[in-house]
Amino acid sequence: MPPKLLLHVCCANCGIVPIELLRDRFDLTLFWYNPNIYPRTEYQKRLADVKKLVKIYKKDLIVENNDIKKWFEITKELENEPEGGKRCEKCFQMRLSRTARLAKEKSFDFFATTLSVGPQKRAKIINKLGEKLAKECDLKFYPADFKKQDGFKKSVELSKKYGFYRQHYCGCVFSIRTSKH
Ligand code: SF4
Repeated sequence: MPPKLLLHVCCANCGIVPIELLRDRFDLTLFWYNPNIYPRTEYQKRLADVKKLVKIYKKDLIVENNDIKKWFEITKELENEPEGGKRCEKCFQMRLSRTARLAKEKSFDFFATTLSVGPQKRAKIINKLGEKLAKECDLKFYPADFKKQDGFKKSVELSKKYGFYRQHYCGCVFSIRTSKH
């Protein structure tokens, strides 16, 4: 039996390439936990496409719709940080931490995240957080920079093929403000 991996998925577009790369080596389950996404209509749109994604790849999905208030608490006073700055680090940490703890509770061998597909997301920060949480939870983290080797380009092509909605901002209310679109 392949090892069990819990894959945190931030949106369907970013989910495709990691699934393509990992599905032959791991028994994958996807995990939706993104209290950062604003407004609610946007949140629902992205979640709806993740539900389509798991159907396409025949994977299980765990959904947690909690902690919006907590997200605003942890990012308080970081509203004006640029994308990729301190607010994003807190946001990654919150989502990865819940992923690691759930993976532990449910006896997964590994956990990982699709976050590094995004061109603005620094894999170094994500991987460092993942390794730290893995130690704390006595689990394995799968470090990656999924945007590399044309990962981002492939995600754009495949999401077009599947007809997924492609958002124009990262997710939180503060990233709408700084979006160039
Ligand atoms: S810009 Fe993206 S990663 Fe950064 S805090 Fe907002 S939602 Fe999270």
